[in-house]
Amino acid sequence: MASFSLILIRLSLVAVLLTASFCQLKAIGIREAVDDAVGEQREFDYFNFALQWPGTQCKNTRHCCPSNGCCRGSNAPTEFTIHGLWPDYNDGTWPSCCKKSKFDEKEISTLLDALEQYWPSYRCGSTSTCYSGEGLFWAHEWEKHGTCSFPVVRDEYSYFSTTLNLYFKYNVTRVLNEAGYLPSNTEKYPLGGIVSAIQNAFHATPKLDCSKDAVNELHLCFYKDFKPRDCIIERSPENDNYFSSSSCPKYVSLPVYMSSGVDDATAAIPWILENEPL
Ligand code: AMP
Repeated sequence: MASFSLILIRLSLVAVLLTASFCQLKAIGIREAVDDAVGEQREFDYFNFALQWPGTQCKNTRHCCPSNGCCRGSNAPTEFTIHGLWPDYNDGTWPSCCKKSKFDEKEISTLLDALEQYWPSYRCGSTSTCYSGEGLFWAHEWEKHGTCSFPVVRDEYSYFSTTLNLYFKYNVTRVLNEAGYLPSNTEKYPLGGIVSAIQNAFHATPKLDCSKDAVNELHLCFYKDFKPRDCIIERSPENDNYFSSSSCPKYVSLPVYMSSGVDDATAAIPWILENEPL
């Protein structure tokens, strides 16, 4: 009987210890659990190349600083810029933070001029990086998405140079301009016309995201050999067509950003910049 009670006490002790370690795991954060799992994320299926429309991105600019592309006055971007190259899965999900490979600006020093121009940040504050860090927008994109593009893209330099090459090869702004879709604060364009212009040029269907009626992002998709393919448009069984499943209305705009005209970047107020939420 005494030994039975001893077994019961031991079992209760084990239960208490197991509960305590579970609570501790929760307390140190799910991130560690994710970190342990990162090695197990399966290889991606295709690339999603995300572009941003500066006129829409910059409309939300509340503060300026040298790192904010919206604040370059007459040098502010007027064409689609790069958000990132994202390895995605066919089921609509994606891997993230796949390798502990910390962003190092020195590795891409020869690309910096092009990146400043075509892959600008539209914020003043820093962006979250993997493993509880914060850093440049480029660091976020490399650590969160770039590290998952293995084995097609194997290192930081290749990630940024490959993305720039795609950007130059598939010039969405030029295709839209040639089809008559010019930046304007008064015109509205049929979404179907914009989609068709891209389909005709690249033989694949893009995905568009809007903020109200303004085009915010345009995504091109590629097989792993970088041949264009259709993007995945989430369609519900009731709404099985492009337009009702898009976040854009039937008529959309490509707004022009009107900067304040002053030297925006030097009009920055440092303490606001440090604390601006992303
Ligand atoms: P992603 O994980 O690649 O979808 O990036 C999303 C994160 O990047 C969010 O924190 C956004 O606020 C931020 N972000 C998106 N576009 C930009 C941009 N052009 N400049 C700076 N941060 C951005």
